[in-house]
Amino acid sequence: MTIDINTVVSLQYKLSNQQTGEQLEETLVDRPMQFLYGIERIIPTFEENIHGKSKGDKMSFGIPAADAYGTRTEEQVVNIPLNVFHDESGKINEEHIYVGALLPMTDHEGRHLRGRILELNAEDVKMDFNHPLAGIDLLFDIEILDVRPATQEEIAHGHSHGEHGHHH
Ligand SMILES: [Zn+2]
Repeated sequence: MTIDINTVVSLQYKLSNQQTGEQLEETLVDRPMQFLYGIERIIPTFEENIHGKSKGDKMSFGIPAADAYGTRTEEQVVNIPLNVFHDESGKINEEHIYVGALLPMTDHEGRHLRGRILELNAEDVKMDFNHPLAGIDLLFDIEILDVRPATQEEIAHGHSHGEHGHHH
């Protein structure tokens, strides 16, 4: 069985920064990545690179930032008035609000975003809403653990089921 549309793939991966070699993410041995190929949202170049592979195959490939999480933009770095971050008592909770903190936020249209605090001063907070992997050329080391046909139910739901898939 080779990887194609309507197969469920499980794999281990190690993700590094292609330029610095720094390791960024790694799947845990008992927690592989599993997904319905071609349907669940994965980086397109990632899918192209594993197309046609089968169980036991190992491979390494790079994906330039522009094809992965995009490039960093200064428009995604914004100043927000400090009082937005006040708690009920009108104070800043330093347990949550500090340089480097990653905060869940909501924009004007109700979309959920995560922003990292870059700077704090008496008036405002400078936050970076770029994706943490934006601007980074990615290097993946992959091992395909399993490829199986998707069930009709998985295809209808648009995601994989089972131990490492969606649970209902
Ligand atoms: Zn489902």
